[in-house]
Amino acid sequence: MSFQAPKGTFDWMPPRSELALAVRDAMSAPVRRAGYGYVETPTFEDTALFARGVGESTDIVSKEMYTFEDKGGRSITLRPEGTASTVRAVLQHGLQNGPLPAKVWYSGSFFRYERAQKGRYRHFSQVGAEALGVEDPALDAELIQLAAEGFASLGLTGVRLLLNSLGCAACRPAYRAALQDFLRALDLDDATRARVELNPLRVLDDKRPEVRAQLGGAPLVTDHLCEACKGYHEEVRSLLTDAGVAFADDPRLVRGLDYYTRTTFEFVHDGLGSQSAVGGGGRYDGLSEMIGGPPLPGVGWAIGVDRTVLALEAEGLAAPRSSGGVQVYGVALGDEARRLLFSLLIELRRAGVTADMAFGGKGLKGAMKGADRSGATYAVIIGERDLAAGAAQVKDLASGEQAAVPLAEIVTTLKERLTQ
Ligand code: AMP
Repeated sequence: MSFQAPKGTFDWMPPRSELALAVRDAMSAPVRRAGYGYVETPTFEDTALFARGVGESTDIVSKEMYTFEDKGGRSITLRPEGTASTVRAVLQHGLQNGPLPAKVWYSGSFFRYERAQKGRYRHFSQVGAEALGVEDPALDAELIQLAAEGFASLGLTGVRLLLNSLGCAACRPAYRAALQDFLRALDLDDATRARVELNPLRVLDDKRPEVRAQLGGAPLVTDHLCEACKGYHEEVRSLLTDAGVAFADDPRLVRGLDYYTRTTFEFVHDGLGSQSAVGGGGRYDGLSEMIGGPPLPGVGWAIGVDRTVLALEAEGLAAPRSSGGVQVYGVALGDEARRLLFSLLIELRRAGVTADMAFGGKGLKGAMKGADRSGATYAVIIGERDLAAGAAQVKDLASGEQAAVPLAEIVTTLKERLTQ
């Protein structure tokens, strides 16, 4: 074969691709029920949107963006995440002047030039939800509960929720200074020292064992929250508890950028090895201003579709419907029967029955082999004699039982049998 999918990417192929669809449906259904509207933004944006909206000092912006110049000389970047684009679209369309919160959700492809490994790809897929314009702990709790609901509806039991608060513009500076004092005394390489000055919270997120080992006594943000942030966080925690959403407080869970405030959370799954995060999010009250908008608080999350599929597989929940998943498979002998079958299939599909047929003029034997392979429950066979009798043979492919059914009754008969 001459071409392969590019490094760090893969194809979703049937039947496994059914799982990706199932995850998208399961994660979006709860937010749709909660009044979130669907938005679809371009797959690429002005590079500056991400540089400002994600942050120059992040790995995403400094190392991982797919950036190119288009033929008009503009610097364009394939979107590495969804929040900056969504906030840009909300502002561009003036949703901040309408009823608030503006609640939106999205689903699509994202691109990061990462070191590829299991669960970490250069092209991946997320479902995300954002609520803008209101700062209310009930909104943070709502979003977290909706994501938890989505995971639970897939049957996943191994997803854990980690929760933290990052404070606000009032209390974060004192914490940042205390953290810097602590970090400056550690044995760190030059790049990490530079990070201590620029973005000390990110050092807490360092995964290297030699750094981790020194972070044991680091000051915790939760010990530095102001009264307002403490009260807000307590309210989020108690709403989640009342809603039956289990969580673990993780005072080391951080996001490196200044516009992330207060609530921050991550959903992790222990069956995934090092790439354990299946989703994450939090409050980003300063983002709108970072990209040139008015003050507009926001909270949201993004769920990784690819990793959630891996979680389903890790829990043994990955039994996609066999093959493409049709219920009825049609076999016709002769041109006239074939034309009839073609129309019958359309009727079956309109009645909500999934149906396929043998294509390519196969003989009876080849066509019946197709029926077996299709995973269908029933075959509908129309031969010359059936045609003359105005009937078709309906064959139960599991038991092999077969009976003639008048053509006019095929759709209702099959629909009834399939819903039994
Ligand atoms: P983030 O935008 O980094 O907060 O990511 C949100 C979620 O998207 C993560 O929890 C992952 O499940 C997923 N994700 C992020 N980056 C990748 C990647 N390179 N490959 C696969 N999934 C990813």
